[in-house]
This record gives sequence, C-alpha cells and structure tokens, in this order.
Amino acid sequence: MTAQNLPSEPEFEQAYKELASTLENSTLFQKKPEYRKALQVVSVPERVLQFRVVWEDDAGNVQINRGFRVQFNSALGPYKGGLRFHPSVNLSILKFLGFEQIFKNALTGLNMGGGKGGSDFDPKGKSDNEIRRFCVSFMTELCKHIGQDTDVPAGDIGVTGREVGFMFGQYKKIRNQWEGVLTGKGGSWGGSLIRPEATGYGVVYYVDHMIKHASGGKESFVGKRVAVSGSGNVAQYAALKVIELGGSVVSLSDSQGALVLATEEGSFTAEEIEQIAAIKVERKQIAELASTAAFSSKFKYIPGARPWTNIVGRIDVALPSATQNEVSGEEAKALIAAGCKFIAEGSNMGSTQEAIDVFEAHREANQGGAAIWYAPGKAANAGGVAVSGLEMAQNSSRVSWTREEVDSRLKGIMEDCFNNGLATAKEYVPSAEGSLPSLVAGSNIAGFTKVAEAMKDHGDWW
Ligand code: NDP
Repeated sequence: MTAQNLPSEPEFEQAYKELASTLENSTLFQKKPEYRKALQVVSVPERVLQFRVVWEDDAGNVQINRGFRVQFNSALGPYKGGLRFHPSVNLSILKFLGFEQIFKNALTGLNMGGGKGGSDFDPKGKSDNEIRRFCVSFMTELCKHIGQDTDVPAGDIGVTGREVGFMFGQYKKIRNQWEGVLTGKGGSWGGSLIRPEATGYGVVYYVDHMIKHASGGKESFVGKRVAVSGSGNVAQYAALKVIELGGSVVSLSDSQGALVLATEEGSFTAEEIEQIAAIKVERKQIAELASTAAFSSKFKYIPGARPWTNIVGRIDVALPSATQNEVSGEEAKALIAAGCKFIAEGSNMGSTQEAIDVFEAHREANQGGAAIWYAPGKAANAGGVAVSGLEMAQNSSRVSWTREEVDSRLKGIMEDCFNNGLATAKEYVPSAEGSLPSLVAGSNIAGFTKVAEAMKDHGDWW
C-alpha cells in the first residue's frame, strides 16, 4: 500500500514532519544519505494492536471501548511507553506518542524501545469499581502481548498508580507471573521511589541546565517566574520542584480553564498545589477550588482558557505540561513578548509546529529581544521514562534504591539529555553567527542516529 492510500493521521503526520524537517535542515543527510532509508523504515510501527474492551458499569449495562497498543520500535530494548485513557484517544494520537517515544527513550541512554497505548475510555465520572472493571477487561487482552522483556507499559493521561495497580493484578492472575511488566507501580510491590515525581522534576532539572548554560552559571531558578499548564502528574511535580529551587509558579490549568496569580507578586505555594493534587485524585476540576474564598482572593480563574496569554506580569520560563498542541503560534509570540526566554515541554508535542517555528526563529538575540531556548518534550520530559527504566532495572535485580540514589541518577540523565542535544546541534545544525544551538534539532538527530544505527546492525535497513 502506498502512503497515499493510508488514512489521514494528523497528529502522527505532525510528529513525523517535525522530526523529518529538522533532519532535512541539518547536515545529517549530506553526511549520511543512507539515513533517508532509515527514516522511512523507522516511521512504520513494527506492530499495531487494536482490541475490544467490554466492561460492566455500576448499573449493569454493557460498555464498549477501543483498546490499543502501538509497538513501534524495539531496536534498543523492549517497547516502552505509557497508556493513555482519554476520550480523545485514537490511532493517530497513539502513533504520534509512540513515534516520539522511540527517540526520547534513545536519549535517556537506557535500553528501551518505543511504544504507546491506551483507550478512548474516560475515567472522569466513573466509580472506583467501574475503573477497576475496565482495567481488568483491558488487561485481559493486553496481557497476551506484553511482558518484562517484550513490552513494558506505564501511565500517561488518565492512568495513575491506581489504574497501574488494577492492571498489574490482572496480568499477574492471568499469566501467573510477578514481573516488572508495568512501571509506575506502588512502592511495596516493585515501584521505584521518585517515579511519580520523575517527569516533572526532570523537566525542571533540564531547564536548570538551560538557564545555567545561557547565563554562564550566574543564574538559576531563584527569582524566576514560571508559567505552568496542566495540573496533573507532570504539572504538579514540576511546580513543586520550581518552588523548591526558589522560583515562583504563576499559573496552572486543566481542561476546563486556567488559574493564574491575580497580581505580579507571589507564587502558588506547595500547600495550594497539594490541594489541587487532592481534588485531581477525585478527578474534579480546578474551577471548584477557584471559587473558594482562599483561592478567589489570590488567583484569577479564566474558564475555557490556557494560561499563556493570561499571566499578569513578566514570564521567565514556560512549562507546557497538559497535552499536545497546547501552545499556538500566537501564544508563542505572546510568551516571548511577556519576557519568556526558556520554554520546555513537560507534555508530548506541547507546541504546535507554528509555535516551534516562532521559538526557533528567535534563537538569534538580535531581533529586538533576548534569544529563546526551546526544549522539545522528547528531551525535556524524558525523566519519566528514564526512571521507569530504572524501575525495570531494580525489578530485574530484585532490589530497591533509595530516593537519593534514584534522584541522583535522574539528575545525571537529564544533564546528559541537555548536553547531548546541545553538542549534536553544534555538530549538525548550521546556525547564524551569534545564534543559539537548536535543542529541538540536536535532540532529534541524537535520538534518531542512535536508533538508526542499532536498526542497521539488526538488518532492519541496509
Ligand atoms: P494527567 O492525566 O495527570 O494530567 C493531565 C493534565 O492535563 C490535567 O490537568 C488535564 O486536565 C489536562 N488536560 C488533559 N487533556 C487536556 C486537553 N485536551 N486540553 C487541556 N488540558 C488537558 O497526565 P500527565 O500529567 O501524566 O501528562 C501530561 C502530559 O505529559 C501529557 O502530554 C503526557 O503525554 C506527558 N508526559 C507524561 C509523562 C508521565 O510520566 N506521566 C511522561 C512524559 C510525558 P483535567 O484534569 O481537566 O483532565
């Protein structure tokens, strides 16, 4: 079948074009023209599984959802990537996420291939029993296709430790094996310390390197005003780490609206973030808290909006941490106009291509403002899957590392991710005099070449 006969997959095509255009615009294909063939091969998943998930709601009705697992690439290790439970889930979204995951996992330096899965099941408004019955039914089929040396899923949007627990239990019952088949497990049954925090912490560690590199070591998060979107796992821990490092968090959001500081002073406190985390466990909306006296006296709630154009005062750092395509070209311009110099994606493909083009066009400082550092999700949010890789290592050797040990390895991996992207950009991406290196191109090229070389060794292309 030719590419023209394939169904339209807008999110996957966007992710593919973003990667392919950075490779094309570098010197990579001039130096290694054979990599064009590798790109063609790597962009087709090794396997796509789609299955029926039938479960019973509390009223005894039959409910039906679609289940998916995209086993995209196993050159570097078992397929690895999260499961997303959200009504928007379709094959295009999971292929985009699986594709990005291949190169992200390569950047961690650990032996993990790329995959992604999930369902169009909506956990919002469901009882615990309904969620358990759904997870059991989902895993009854998925367990035939995964295993600690084959494919190791984790959480993503809508999949927390609770869902991982229900799925792990069902895998164990059917396969009669206690093994590290999922990551993000509970602490007493094989989970790694720092896994819940890892993606958010990792984004902040990555940005810390951007800030230090940009300022020659003179600046840090201290005094920085940081706009965060989302209020789930990634956003919560990113926000808490920013506060710990001396920065101010000036916004959070969810799918229904944005909550921003009402004045130019202050920050969300760790206690306020804990309160938001508590309502998110119950899958409630920020709007409920925003209307309380304590929150309405300090914050402004804007229904149906994202934070970027609603921040009061200066922005130094932006961390999109909710979902894909959550920063438009216009919002990218507004962030820069508000003073933002550092953008790093906690979410996967958080920026539209138009937004990336705006950020990349500002790598030169001489356009009437400061130069912009933009880090794609593939590099900046790799901390989550990196600690998942560390969880797999602990499970295989039946040991548990301390918080300090895992955190210190996470810091080292994020530093390597930053330095690798930077060095690769300098080697392959032509930049104007005085322009910053392109972290997006550097990270794409570094991840891609590692996977392409392994695939060549395996005879996947020649
Ligand atoms: P959660 O489900 O914990 O939180 C998601 C947050 O994003 C919630 O605040 C949710 O709002 C909001 N959101 C979801 N969909 C939309 C939408 N269509 N429009 C606006 N807001 C939306 O997920 P995570 O924090 O785990 O994931 C967030 C992002 O980070 C995703 O892009 C994910 O792929 C990426 N990521 C996650 C990793 C992880 O380890 N968890 C690892 C690497 C990347 P509401 O509460 O109203 O639903």
